[in-house]
Amino acid sequence: MDFELDEGQRAVQQGVRHVARAFDLDYWREADARHRFPEEFWRALADGGWLGIVIPPEFGGSGLGTLELAIAIEEVAASGAGAAAGFLFILNSVFGAVTIVKHGSQEQKRRYLPGLADGTLEFCMALTEPDAGTNTPRITTTARRDGDGWLVNGQKVFISGVDRAGGMLLVARTAPPEGDGSRTRGLSLFLLDPRSPGIDIRPIEKLGIHMSSTSFIHFDQVRLPASALVGEEGRGWRMLLDTLNPERIATTATCVGTGDLVLRLAVDYARERKVFGAPIGTHQGLAFPLAQHKAQLELARLMNYRAAWAFDRGMPCGADTNMAKYVAAEAAFRAADQAMQVHGGYGYTTEYHVERYWRDLRLFRTAPVSQEMTLNYIAEHVLGLPKSYGG
Ligand SMILES: Cc1cc2nc3c(=O)[nH]c(=O)nc-3n(C[C@H](O)[C@H](O)[C@H](O)COP(=O)(O)OP(=O)(O)OC[C@H]3O[C@@H](n4cnc5c(N)ncnc54)[C@H](O)[C@@H]3O)c2cc1C
Repeated sequence: MDFELDEGQRAVQQGVRHVARAFDLDYWREADARHRFPEEFWRALADGGWLGIVIPPEFGGSGLGTLELAIAIEEVAASGAGAAAGFLFILNSVFGAVTIVKHGSQEQKRRYLPGLADGTLEFCMALTEPDAGTNTPRITTTARRDGDGWLVNGQKVFISGVDRAGGMLLVARTAPPEGDGSRTRGLSLFLLDPRSPGIDIRPIEKLGIHMSSTSFIHFDQVRLPASALVGEEGRGWRMLLDTLNPERIATTATCVGTGDLVLRLAVDYARERKVFGAPIGTHQGLAFPLAQHKAQLELARLMNYRAAWAFDRGMPCGADTNMAKYVAAEAAFRAADQAMQVHGGYGYTTEYHVERYWRDLRLFRTAPVSQEMTLNYIAEHVLGLPKSYGG
């Protein structure tokens, strides 16, 4: 067993750190306040070649895995981007690149991967529906055969980044669930341009992560060519797991990096701020929670590396991705909450940054998979307890 990052992994860590260093906390506060996509940061990542980490060299990337992607996300998050790091990489490197590298046809790879690698193509994924969030197999958006192609009808909700995206991974039903209880049968994956005729996009206002928009989408008789289908019709669920597990890995990396960042802000403040004649960091009532969250974040980091290592080798990783995501989301949000506590009244102001990370980190208790569903997974698949829900 070797716990050292190898030379290539250290190069990713240092290279990304170098790029991210040029963008300070004020840059990210401004992107949040103006609800603005961080164009300059995006360009800097692209110019450094960091958007193509998981893309094979023949399509313009560096051919590395989700472990290197996690290392990069941690660095970007910890540099000041916080949860924005997750959104930048998940939408493009996971929803787009990982899915297409794993399951796309040669034609789909040629069409999408070079743009994803050089940052000229942004991506999104449309899975969640008003009546199917946690309960994914209940989706009712349909893709029906229509001549040579497909006709899509339905609704999706909470779709991140679709207003800017030139590519979308769509999960739709091409057949009803089977009567034998195989609820995940009949799901198919498609790649399309979200600006296709018949797609209506409406923004949703939300609490945080304002650098990325969230939208409701209506599909009305949207025509797709036969070539839009990814892999085998009706077998989308198996393939989708190869997107959802890396999404969890990337989410954990985001939480670990952002957790490190808020702890650093808390520690710096606690060492400087004097009340009753001594730095407030001397009080164990403030210090112990910070130490606890640090311990949990380090555990999540290690388990996440193991999850990514397993995924990159085609090994089962669901137990690790769920456990790591559960611990990381909890620890990062609690760390941000404690960082606010350490800052006293100043923590509630935008000047001190912590409130932004607190708002943003709250999301990861619910999305991309809720804490309850990670616990359901662990109870059922790791501990072997009976499933507590169905339908
Ligand atoms: C900012 C944001 C960005 C998002 N981006 C995307 C995106 O880009 N693409 C996309 O497809 N989706 C996206 N989502 C959707 C996200 O994945 C869902 O919100 C999430 O999966 C939860 O689904 P839901 O909101 O429908 O909650 P529901 O399914 O209605 O669940 C509500 C609550 O009930 C709990 N619950 C449900 N069933 C059980 C059970 N069996 N046991 C215990 N508890 C249970 C859940 O854990 C949750 O706390 C995004 C959401 C947000 C808020």
